[in-house]
Amino acid sequence: MSELHKFLFEGLPVRGILLRLTDAWKEILQRRAQNAETGAYPQAVRQLLGEMTAGAVLMQANIRFEGALVLQIFGDGPLKLAVVEVQNDLSLRATAKVVGTLDETASLSQMVNQNNQGKCAITLDPLKRHPGQQPYQGVVPLFDDNKQPIDQFQKVIEHYMLQSEQLDTTLILAANDEVAAGLLIQRMPMQGQNNLSAHHVLRDEDAIGKNEDYRRISILASSLTREELLSLDANALLHRLFWQENVRRFEPQVEDTAPRFSCSCSRERVSQMIRGLGQEEAQSILQERDNIEVGCDFCGLQYSFDPIDTDQIFSIPAGLQPPSTDAIQ
Ligand SMILES: [Zn+2]
Repeated sequence: MSELHKFLFEGLPVRGILLRLTDAWKEILQRRAQNAETGAYPQAVRQLLGEMTAGAVLMQANIRFEGALVLQIFGDGPLKLAVVEVQNDLSLRATAKVVGTLDETASLSQMVNQNNQGKCAITLDPLKRHPGQQPYQGVVPLFDDNKQPIDQFQKVIEHYMLQSEQLDTTLILAANDEVAAGLLIQRMPMQGQNNLSAHHVLRDEDAIGKNEDYRRISILASSLTREELLSLDANALLHRLFWQENVRRFEPQVEDTAPRFSCSCSRERVSQMIRGLGQEEAQSILQERDNIEVGCDFCGLQYSFDPIDTDQIFSIPAGLQPPSTDAIQ
């Protein structure tokens, strides 16, 4: 079962989260493999998408935010788009679009950043959006400050965290076909009662890379190998890394509160999408084939609308559609 463990280092401005996605991750891979149209993801994409999924869950778990966190990469290469969406209850879904063939061991650059055009976008979409309110979006390139392509996805997120939140973050991500896992270590913002005096307040930017406690713990965390991250359970892993530190652990998120796969697609939403095409476009599709077929990229469900269904979509005014979530497979 998937699990998430939060912890902090007693008395130090450093906190961490350890994540292991098992059932949730395997379900994403299985659904894709069973999709007759696409087939399974290529090996290199499975690993990247697993790391992205683990990274997105860690980021969502690390912030207090009522809404969805969407992590995307896109650019130039056979991997056109990879998307992970995590709700604030840690339900999640992920998908990737691949055009053409990919080497089994293709790097991040070969997949999506062949000419340094690749980007990573992090979107925070509030659950209750005010009228006119746009989701918050941050975009970072897939190259470093010296324009060198980044080939480890975890470095992309570290870069984003440093830029957007001004916080030192160490991230270790790994994925295989069974597990997508991650460890996040972060320096906490310089706030609170110890820093009330204006003379002693260090601005957060000034503290980047300078906190000795964070640096020590970050070096310990970075000694974790991918194999250890994928295979060790939480107790063994935290002991292996931090046995000399005073780690305080919180109630783990397991079973009911664990991260889990869930897709929010529905027949009603697909109807709205068809309505968005316009009646003329919908009719022209129906002149070429019997039904309008729409597949969900995230979960693989197929939605089918025959001419009568389609007429109905356009005969009822928008907003008055009867709710229906049954999917036709
Ligand atoms: Zn779906």
